[in-house]
Amino acid sequence: MFDDLKGRRVLVTGSTQGIGLAAAQAFARCGAKVGINGRKAPADLTSTLAAMEQAGGEAAFFAGDLRDSAACKAVVDAFVERFGGIDVLINNAGGLVARKPLEEIDDEFFDAVTDLNARSALMTTKHALPHLRRSAKDSGQTASVILVGSVAGYTGGGPGAGLYGAAKAWLHNIQKNWVAFHTKEGIRFNTVSPGTFDTAFHADKDEAAKARVSTGIPMGRFGKPEECAPTFLFFASHACSGYITGQVLDVNGGQFMP
Ligand code: NAD
Repeated sequence: MFDDLKGRRVLVTGSTQGIGLAAAQAFARCGAKVGINGRKAPADLTSTLAAMEQAGGEAAFFAGDLRDSAACKAVVDAFVERFGGIDVLINNAGGLVARKPLEEIDDEFFDAVTDLNARSALMTTKHALPHLRRSAKDSGQTASVILVGSVAGYTGGGPGAGLYGAAKAWLHNIQKNWVAFHTKEGIRFNTVSPGTFDTAFHADKDEAAKARVSTGIPMGRFGKPEECAPTFLFFASHACSGYITGQVLDVNGGQFMP
């Protein structure tokens, strides 16, 4: 399965840890050429890249703070310079920034949350578009853009996470426009929408809080990043999902059933 991912050029934003890193590692195991990204190189970068190469992929790191549109372009350009094009873009960079109730939201916080979750995905996709078009044309297969949404994009998010939830809903929505206007170019757009995954995202919760949250998940536990990774492989693979576009795949242990 996923044999067609061998040699595919895959850029995963926000992938020095958590869901993004697990996805990048899964692509490496498929023999893909994988770009990982974060604001700055993590301490374990050398061993992370070596393990991905050992697993059968090619891997490189591209630093860039994707809240900044110029950095989105620079990361895309550097990836293309290294690998010669882009076949798959995964817009994973995102996060809560902080929890702030409505009364505490100011312009700075509004910008921080929307820049990280919405602007980053839009600008990175915009700058990747010419390369994705070329990929589709040259390969005769579809190129793939995958957004990372959230259960909060449906529910509105937990305490102080309203802006974050709205930014994720924005992602769930904007791909519909991209499907309408870029499908003819051979590009597919899909969203992976995680529920509650055990990553640094939940670093603000102690074990008791995690146990309380888990009671609201039919599977009774948080997801593990590696349990989300196959959904990215699926949407990236033309052989598996070449006729699937504009969809949201919920990976949430039954936490929310839209
Ligand atoms: P994480 O905090 O473990 O990882 C976030 C990654 O993004 C890190 O690699 C970090 O370096 C990178 N990053 C942060 N800010 C960045 C920036 N400005 N520019 C470039 N990279 C940046 O979080 P995670 O749980 O793995 O989250 C990954 C994605 O999944 C996010 O979009 C998040 O909103 C989404 N998500 C997570 C959960 C969850 O429960 N963990 C649930 C729903 C959605």
